[in-house]
Amino acid sequence: MSIDPIQDTEEYRDKVATVDDRGKRIWIYPKKPSGRYYNARKWVSYVLLAILFGLPFIEVGGEPFVLFNILERKFILFGVLFMPQDFHLFVLAMLTFIVFIVLFTVVWGRVFCGWICPQTIFMEMVFRRIEYWIEGDANAQRRLNKAPWTTDKIFKKTAKQVIFFTISVLIANVFLAYIISLDEVLRIVQEPISQNWEGFVAMILFSGAFYFVFSYMREQVCIAVCPYGRLQGVMLDNNSIVVHYDHVRGEPRGKMKKKHTARKPDNPVQSIAATVAAGTAKPDQVKAEAMPTGSNPTEQIKKTLGDCIDCKLCVQVCPTGIDIRDGTQLECVNCTACMDACDEVMDKIGRERGLIRYDSFKGISEGRKRLWTPRVMAYSAVLGVLIVVNILLLNARTDVEANLFRATGTLFYQVNDQPDQLRNLYNYQITNKTKESFPVEFRLVGIEGSIELVGKPPVTEPGAQTEGSLFITLDKADLDGRKTRLSIDVYSGDKRIDRVKTNFFGPVQ
Ligand code: SF4
Ligand code: SF4
Repeated sequence: MSIDPIQDTEEYRDKVATVDDRGKRIWIYPKKPSGRYYNARKWVSYVLLAILFGLPFIEVGGEPFVLFNILERKFILFGVLFMPQDFHLFVLAMLTFIVFIVLFTVVWGRVFCGWICPQTIFMEMVFRRIEYWIEGDANAQRRLNKAPWTTDKIFKKTAKQVIFFTISVLIANVFLAYIISLDEVLRIVQEPISQNWEGFVAMILFSGAFYFVFSYMREQVCIAVCPYGRLQGVMLDNNSIVVHYDHVRGEPRGKMKKKHTARKPDNPVQSIAATVAAGTAKPDQVKAEAMPTGSNPTEQIKKTLGDCIDCKLCVQVCPTGIDIRDGTQLECVNCTACMDACDEVMDKIGRERGLIRYDSFKGISEGRKRLWTPRVMAYSAVLGVLIVVNILLLNARTDVEANLFRATGTLFYQVNDQPDQLRNLYNYQITNKTKESFPVEFRLVGIEGSIELVGKPPVTEPGAQTEGSLFITLDKADLDGRKTRLSIDVYSGDKRIDRVKTNFFGPVQ
């Protein structure tokens, strides 16, 4: 039995909006968005871009304010140095962040993608706007791509690609500055390539990757690559607030045609939606045309149709090529372009804004928004616990971390000229997470004895680990048998910076 395609309202589920029947990519030409949400997103993007490009320039005490040096395992967050010894903090912070993202998504859907994600910001607020500036709006871009290679086309295409690549190089350098610091990036840029092959190759690779993403991959990153996007299906529920089409108010959709009015039923069909969308008539003119004399046009049309006039402007502006009227879809990055487009249409036909708006499925179908669901409460409780543990661990974090281990393969031995004393050999490691170097010394706590360093007294270097060996000598009379528990304080001058615990081995008594 064949299915009437008009009746198959679920057909969109069988295909991806950016792939045709032969599996080839359909290039998306989104219409240039405009409206209050787009303007707000522009301002948010200016602030975020300023932060992204500005942070690498900020230094605290000669060190970057933020650094993620994976190569040297050195991380600086808000001026505080974190080293591999802080890995547990990093893991916990990541876990907290993931729970936060899940909670945020359950409540607010993919709002992060539309407003904060660097991919969307660069794509929609930088690269796309340059494209509109050089090649024009969606239709002009289509025409240009189909046109033969004239001087004008070559100039526009070349200019666009050169600008795209230049910005990609800039982004790659900023990205590298977050990894190896701005000073290193500037050094690599200034020195001859022959002295910095590795740095140069890294820059080219990063620049090429960004150029490929923003000039070619585009929305495919959000649809097919981004793991966060792929997880939407398990995170969203009917209470999540997302960009939603109000199907209750909008359906049955249909073009505002004269045949829907009582005035001239057999007039030739004229799509008011198309007239509005094309901007060839003012809203008042359009309304007047649809209005039977002496009647309220909105009431007349509402008898048969919902508020959606099927102008498809919401589809035309969508950067991922979907029709939001089909419901929440994995491809939707909540960019709000369709909300602006539809609001503009509603203004033109004199209806209330918000046919596409931030709302939940339940909010639309049942008229009630419910944010505080059991699921949200459970995630909030877990997030609360994780935040508290994070705060406690960060509070307990010390700038200097010392470790003392008994030297492997050694036991105790007797001091030659002191038969009532025993010695153990230890290795120490001191991790200095500050930006200063300082000498350290060890002092026994609560027991008489002596500590002798092997070699010179240790001086710790900033952001480095210092290693060495030392002997501890104790009176036999003070031992608690085979294993005596010891506490040793680590001092820098008069300041105690850490306390370590270890065992002292003696004979079985
Ligand atoms: S922009 Fe609004 S009125 Fe036009 S098709 Fe989309 S939902 Fe319907
Ligand atoms: S449907 Fe398209 S235009 Fe609307 S918010 Fe989602 S991605 Fe943006």
